[in-house]
Amino acid sequence: MALAWMPPEKWDALIRGEDCPMCVELASGEQVNQFGYTIAQLEMSVLRLSVNQFSPGYCVLICKQHVPEPYHLSPADRNRFFEDMMRAANALEQVYHPAKMNFQILGNALPHLHCHITPRYYGDPAPGMPLNLAEYDKRLSPDVYQKQVVAIRAELG
Ligand SMILES: [Zn+2]
Repeated sequence: MALAWMPPEKWDALIRGEDCPMCVELASGEQVNQFGYTIAQLEMSVLRLSVNQFSPGYCVLICKQHVPEPYHLSPADRNRFFEDMMRAANALEQVYHPAKMNFQILGNALPHLHCHITPRYYGDPAPGMPLNLAEYDKRLSPDVYQKQVVAIRAELG
């Protein structure tokens, strides 16, 4: 990934939610795309299993509302978003039994509120640090993704 900010007009438009790829993705309702597989529609978010499964169970939780920051949500909606995060992570723990769960709300490439939920495993290549999944990529076969989607969905209850 090139280390350069996009043109300021484009960044400002994304902040406002104009031509936001995550808004487009949510509006499309498609279950599978180049980024991942939709697991479930939660209260305030959509839970998606990422195509990159270097860290098994790696998901992205996308807020249904376009806001750049979690504190831009109303107090009730930010609570719902956080509850979705907890529900998703708990389901991932039941399915994958990781050593630790990581939550990253960054949005530096795309300022639409989303949380990277990354189960971490003992012995992975970033002890004591965040795991930079841009450096590692592991793809599965379509049927394996679908099996994982079904397993996580079952634990969401
Ligand atoms: Zn958006």
